[in-house]
Amino acid sequence: MKKDFPIFKNKDMHYLDTAATSQKPDVVISDLKKYYEKSNANAGRGSHELSILSKSIIEDTREKVKKFVNASSNMELVFTKNCTEAINLVAYSFGLNFLDENSEIILAVSNHHANIVPWQFVSEKTKAKLKYIYLDSEGNLDIDDYKKKLNKNTKLVAISSVVNTTGIIQDYETVIKLAHENNALVLLDVSQGITHYKQDFSKWNADFYTFSGHKMFSSFGVGALVAKKELLDKMPPFLLGGDMIEYVEEHKTTYASVPTKFEGGTMDTAAIKSLATAISYIEEISYEKINEIEKDLEKILLEELAKLKFVETYYTNNKNRVAVVAFNVKNVHSHDVSYILDQYKVFIRSGKHCTDPLHKFMNINSSCRVSFGVYNEKEDIYKLIEGLKKVGEVFSLE
Ligand code: PMP
Repeated sequence: MKKDFPIFKNKDMHYLDTAATSQKPDVVISDLKKYYEKSNANAGRGSHELSILSKSIIEDTREKVKKFVNASSNMELVFTKNCTEAINLVAYSFGLNFLDENSEIILAVSNHHANIVPWQFVSEKTKAKLKYIYLDSEGNLDIDDYKKKLNKNTKLVAISSVVNTTGIIQDYETVIKLAHENNALVLLDVSQGITHYKQDFSKWNADFYTFSGHKMFSSFGVGALVAKKELLDKMPPFLLGGDMIEYVEEHKTTYASVPTKFEGGTMDTAAIKSLATAISYIEEISYEKINEIEKDLEKILLEELAKLKFVETYYTNNKNRVAVVAFNVKNVHSHDVSYILDQYKVFIRSGKHCTDPLHKFMNINSSCRVSFGVYNEKEDIYKLIEGLKKVGEVFSLE
């Protein structure tokens, strides 16, 4: 599929960092250009043709995204700039206003910092108690541990559907079911899952879903919060200013209804439009095909890595994963590994991938991560292996 992605006109490049951000297909890049050349205007800020057109692009995309993730009729979609902003919206608007010192928030130790730090802030401000679910020996959420931590004071459970470091698909359906039996709400961060497989927000029935477009082929600058409308109606606005209002007087403002209430300020219409194009692109290829390509490559990668005695992989026996592989070269820091791979134009992620608590839990100081996209090929793996052999040579490993 490399031909769809102009960045790969540079044939020497081996991009294995899709979990950080996906590359953009030609259709998305040319669509951005087209928007600025033909339609650029401030959405909803005028009654002229271009402004109306931009507003309708946003509303059409809203419907398209809701359909794509199978949001139920009682859910609404708020556009944000990314997943982080969507989680912060919930933390500021729901967390600070509906939680107190008697409340408990449960997080997974495998969460991305974007789904930890806002809750620490809420906990500091409201005195709500933070608790963590830990993992079993296969890297899955330990559901028995979770059951012990859930109680009548649990007000919110916030986890991700797929762990960005290990690629493990967590048992979120059980987490949601048990939370609801305890009258707790659930925020499911689907940033990593949405890149790889079909989302079914209605079936999973979480209360808040968050994700970024840039990990699923759209441009940067667009993300979403999809949430039960009944909750959004009760929550106060997060960003205050233009367009999220109904009437403004000198000392008083009434707010617009959901979702506009949460969309203060000028929207990034070009980015939002690119999300619609990215969705069409995924639909055209199909998630089945994406998954087939990525999982075939992952299988080859694991076979090749197994031949290198100085490499250790994490939780890769767990079959319930998307095509993301975390590993280390024994006794070599991940940044050193990445530095050497960079000389081979092999681009992987090194460090802690915004999952410091997970790394502490796994008792490692950092890791390397390979994450596949639909555009990867076997050659990317062979070049990676060549680079890793060089790492072995440089550090005299056997
Ligand atoms: N959650 C998960 C699971 C992620 O992988 C990421 C990005 N690495 C985020 C949240 C944050 O996404 P963004 O930086 O686009 O807001």
